[in-house]
Amino acid sequence: MNGPTQPPRRVPVAVGSGYEVTIGSGLLVTAAAVIAEQRVVVVTDVNVVRAHGAALVASLESAGKSVTLLTVQPGEASKSLATWGELVGAVARSGLGRDGAIVALGGGVVGDLAGFVAASYLRGVAFYQFPTSLLAMVDASVGGKTGLDLPEGKNLVGAFWQPRAVIADVATLTSLPEREFKQGTVELVKHGYLRDPRLLQVVGPDWHRGADPALLIDAVTGSVAVKAAVVSADERESGERAHLNFGHTLAHALEAVTDMALQHGDAVAYGMLYAGLLARQRGHADLVPDLLRLVEWLQPAPLPAVAFSDLAPFVARDKKSAGGLPRFVLLAELGSAYLADDVTVEEQEAAYAALKELIA
Ligand code: NAD
Repeated sequence: MNGPTQPPRRVPVAVGSGYEVTIGSGLLVTAAAVIAEQRVVVVTDVNVVRAHGAALVASLESAGKSVTLLTVQPGEASKSLATWGELVGAVARSGLGRDGAIVALGGGVVGDLAGFVAASYLRGVAFYQFPTSLLAMVDASVGGKTGLDLPEGKNLVGAFWQPRAVIADVATLTSLPEREFKQGTVELVKHGYLRDPRLLQVVGPDWHRGADPALLIDAVTGSVAVKAAVVSADERESGERAHLNFGHTLAHALEAVTDMALQHGDAVAYGMLYAGLLARQRGHADLVPDLLRLVEWLQPAPLPAVAFSDLAPFVARDKKSAGGLPRFVLLAELGSAYLADDVTVEEQEAAYAALKELIA
């Protein structure tokens, strides 16, 4: 593990009573310092506990805290009512009271699940996020959305429940599978398109899970700052938070048509490139070459071999405008997103044909 040679960076999130995201290298070993409570339940998954569980538990115990470690199976299937039920039962048996805390150590699955345990147990107890995947660091751990999937659909049960603090230790990324690192990079770069063009520069040979900690800290901090600014301005998703859906209209359709076989980052990368093509058709700034560079670096699974007519019903199912057309987040130029409610089926079809041709 890297030592804490780089000074940690802090990003404030101005929602609820306000909290900070701290980003640095080697932070896990001193993480106990941010937790005020004496009784702590750590929720993690099998992969993460193997790589980082001992370091966190040792840190908490050496600070005199009493720790219960609960481990779930890795993967989206754990964001279920059944796993939630097992966890709240185990938390109750551990004797955690209103003065205790729940800590999420893991990727977005663990964060969403543990966050919902914290939101619901005893009608809400203190919650801390220690994200260990790049996606969880730059996206899932910031903003306070917690929740579970139902057989009827993803994220259908949940609550807004803000953490007291978020600690993103980039040294934990060294054990993250590279494929997952790439998936998280898509959301990191998405924030760059929305508000911080510097983030587009990370894509290249020097950007990987074992990259220079200074580079990782800088990029994660920049990306967190964008998400924090957006959610601080719009905590409950009534306005600008919708810009975070850049690339997601087509992505959701691609995921649905492949029965979720396409990974989310791959789908969003295709979706952002598609949104770039729609924007170019409208005479906006041409961001297609840059978006294509991201897709080429990512090396996503192939675009599913479906005609646009098969995809269209799923595109139309996404958040719709009053006129019944799907809503796309488009960029008038880099850093300038808006919601387009008037993209005709013909425009959508032409951009899809262009997408297929571009990545053929
Ligand atoms: P994940 O939590 O499944 O993690 C991906 C894989 O990486 C898992 O196998 C996990 O065990 C492993 N892993 C994580 N960190 C590791 C580490 N440091 N070392 C070794 N292995 C590690 O998936 P994810 O991509 O992190 O998150 C996806 C989830 O996040 C989805 O459920 C999605 O709905 C949710 N999400 C939530 C929000 C939000 O605002 N709450 C935003 C975006 C996504």
